[in-house]
Amino acid sequence: MAERLDAFMARANAAYYASHDPFADFTTAPEISQVFGELLGLWAGIAWQGMGAPDRFLLAEAGPGRGSLMADALRALAQALPACRAAAAVALIETSPRLRAAQAARLAGAAWYDDLGALPVGPCVLLANEFLDALPIRQFLRQGDGWQERFVQDGRFLTRPAPAPDHPAAADAAEGAIIEIGAAAQDFVRALARRLCRQGGAALLIDYGPEFSAAGDSLQALRDGAPADPLADPGGADLTAHVDFAALARVGAAAGARIVGPVPQGKFLAALGLFQRSERLARSQAPRRAMALLDAANRLAEPDRMGRLFKVLAVCHPAMPPLPGFEP
Ligand code: SAH
Repeated sequence: MAERLDAFMARANAAYYASHDPFADFTTAPEISQVFGELLGLWAGIAWQGMGAPDRFLLAEAGPGRGSLMADALRALAQALPACRAAAAVALIETSPRLRAAQAARLAGAAWYDDLGALPVGPCVLLANEFLDALPIRQFLRQGDGWQERFVQDGRFLTRPAPAPDHPAAADAAEGAIIEIGAAAQDFVRALARRLCRQGGAALLIDYGPEFSAAGDSLQALRDGAPADPLADPGGADLTAHVDFAALARVGAAAGARIVGPVPQGKFLAALGLFQRSERLARSQAPRRAMALLDAANRLAEPDRMGRLFKVLAVCHPAMPPLPGFEP
């Protein structure tokens, strides 16, 4: 039976994250340097101050992986802003039982939820790194005067006639062009924006993708650390797609939230003090470890490494004061 691409991707990734250690296949920013999570923790602390420093708030993370980002964030907060650390109820959105167990080993006292809608009510700071890229996408193919949508059957694409996708590049798309709609990521940001407007708070979404919505096929699979056929072995490979930040910004703004960015990750982390903090940390380390910390900072920030392709977008309550890292 043919399955729409987003249904196929949802099923494949649920199976993949339930059965694999994804970090055997790829390395993410929190695994590259502890400073990444520390800076995001301090960002959350400043957002908490901007919310009026509530006695209790949710410090949430979507797709926390090994729990490294949150562990680093909490340690930095406990040092720099102990009142914020004390006020934080750690809430993790994670569907993989395997990764929940890995997170529990590092994050005593956290609570787990299946999705955003299940989080307890209240003001919230939400962090998400490389979460949205794992959410299912739809793909539309321009053919003749109209459009086809991609389905998957027996490891191959087939297409069925479809209405034109709601995308700025659709009108001028050339024959054979592919337009992606990150429907699940858009639903997530819409729900997040509504929640932040009603209950207060801010969110930081970090992922890779272009700044402007464009045509193109970005579906990719990593299997045993190497590129693979995305359709061949559902559950055996990590499927991702570029995140359309412009579309997410439109959806979030339409839901009433203030949108800040996106800005390139390198610029954002440098503004938060990535290099100063890495250098300070390096000074207290043995030379080998010091070099590794400085190289990790460069890897996160240099434009031809992770600094430009990765973007940072903030979504917040319209009354929040300016958030750090986005200064022009
Ligand atoms: N943020 C981590 C991990 C990125 S991998 C890091 O930067 O290292 C993607 C994470 O999102 C994993 O924890 C995976 O289990 C989780 N995830 C993927 N799809 C999900 C979904 N639909 N709902 C909740 N979590 C999901």
